Amino acid sequence: MSSLFPALSGGAAERRPALRFGDRALTYAELAAAAGCLAARISGSGRVAVWATPTLETAVGVVAALLAGVPAVPLNPRSGESELGHILADSAPSLILAAAGDELPSAVRGLERVDVEVNAPAAGAPAPATGSVTDDAPALIVYTSGTTGPPKGAVLPRHAIATTLDALADAWQWTADDVLVHALPLFHVHGLILGILGPLRRGGSVRHLGRFGTDGVARELNDGATMVFGVPTMYHRIAEALPDDPGLAKALGRARLLVSGSAALPVHDHERIAAATGRRVIERYGMTETLMNTSVRADGEPRAGTVGVPLPGVQLRLVEEDGSPVPSCDGESVGEIQVRGPNLFTEYLNRPDATAAAFTEDGWFRTGDMAVRDADGYVRIVGRKATDLIKSGGYKIGAGEIENALLEHPGVREVAVTGEPDDDLGERIVAWVVPADPGTPPDADELAGHVARRLAPHKRPRTVRFLDSLPRNDMGKIMKRALPQGSGH
Ligand code: ATP
Ligand code: MG
Repeated sequence: MSSLFPALSGGAAERRPALRFGDRALTYAELAAAAGCLAARISGSGRVAVWATPTLETAVGVVAALLAGVPAVPLNPRSGESELGHILADSAPSLILAAAGDELPSAVRGLERVDVEVNAPAAGAPAPATGSVTDDAPALIVYTSGTTGPPKGAVLPRHAIATTLDALADAWQWTADDVLVHALPLFHVHGLILGILGPLRRGGSVRHLGRFGTDGVARELNDGATMVFGVPTMYHRIAEALPDDPGLAKALGRARLLVSGSAALPVHDHERIAAATGRRVIERYGMTETLMNTSVRADGEPRAGTVGVPLPGVQLRLVEEDGSPVPSCDGESVGEIQVRGPNLFTEYLNRPDATAAAFTEDGWFRTGDMAVRDADGYVRIVGRKATDLIKSGGYKIGAGEIENALLEHPGVREVAVTGEPDDDLGERIVAWVVPADPGTPPDADELAGHVARRLAPHKRPRTVRFLDSLPRNDMGKIMKRALPQGSGH
């Protein structure tokens, strides 16, 4: 088995910082000792669950499981009892790793508990027995975000994690000198694999804020951090804060790389950040099942509204509903993204039917995401096949471009666009709007006209509904299926 973390094996760099959460930190030597001790303790276990709070203990627990070759299942501590029950019954872990003192809910109390110690003696950590673990063995079982249905457990092999992180290093020129500002949860791919395992594989370091705040981001960038990974809701908060906070603009201007992913970054937020800081946010596109597929490259041309080009090793194609390839890279023809490559998951745990349905006969994974490709290969995501593609008046319309247009209207703070059955049109475009000023919501005709002028008349919303907030999951993703009524399909 090849090592996922060469930097953990000591040498001159071992006093370098590895992880910092608030005022608690570990060097590479300290991390190697703590994770090594725990790996020896859990070696030979079946699967281990990790109570994935945003703490050093979670990072040490996951690294220990990877060192021991024991598959780890990160759990969202904010899941309700029924979701936790579903994930535990599905993944059947033999024990749970948690920070000492953490109170665990009844759903997990039946499991044997192992407290994660982060202050292990530096010397004498026994080397875990990983000799028989192969690179295609399951390393992590990560549950999807549950945006479109109940979360599914994606079984991720070691080699998928290694290849995706190395492909990102190539695209982002990511090195041991990079210091990441992190504020994401640690139970999904973005926060755990990219945000923790990524820096550790490079030999760089992570500073986790615990909770996202623009002040914390600015402080760390002023104190030598080089990259920020965030979800669009974080960049939205940054875009909103920038006009009143020149210090924030200055700090962001220092960043080597600002990266967004997990959902589409609104063009309006991208442009506002670029105007105020001189930095363009880089977007990357991935899924739990595929890890990372595309990214704008650090050495490429940054462009708003695009997720860039396929990462090294990733094959990507756009196909029509009947499986035939979309004819051209014309920036207009919409097709489903299918991918193939060493970055893919092995299977959905206990779901052979879902696994089979997710692949074509010739081994391409059906992402369920719809996109167009520009002539130079840049991919633009239009939305999800299931909730974001509206068939209205004979046209196929992506919700994303209408959302982007509406977000440019000063009266709109947040928006989600869906289709609803319509006798005349097949489907009718509906805009769910959170007004910028709840006291004076914008006029529905005015919003329809705004879209018709920017896009095309048939893309204007026929119905506008106002809400105080949009339903979002832990990653800040809009859950269209949870809109009050008649949403989506
Ligand atoms: P579930 O599969 O449980 O419904 P989910 O699809 O949200 O939830 P994830 O695997 O965490 O779970 O998210 C992957 C999805 O996120 C992608 O299929 C895509 O729709 C969306 N996504 C990720 N990055 C981007 C991006 N940069 N732009 C647009 N969409 C993105
Ligand atoms: Mg999904």
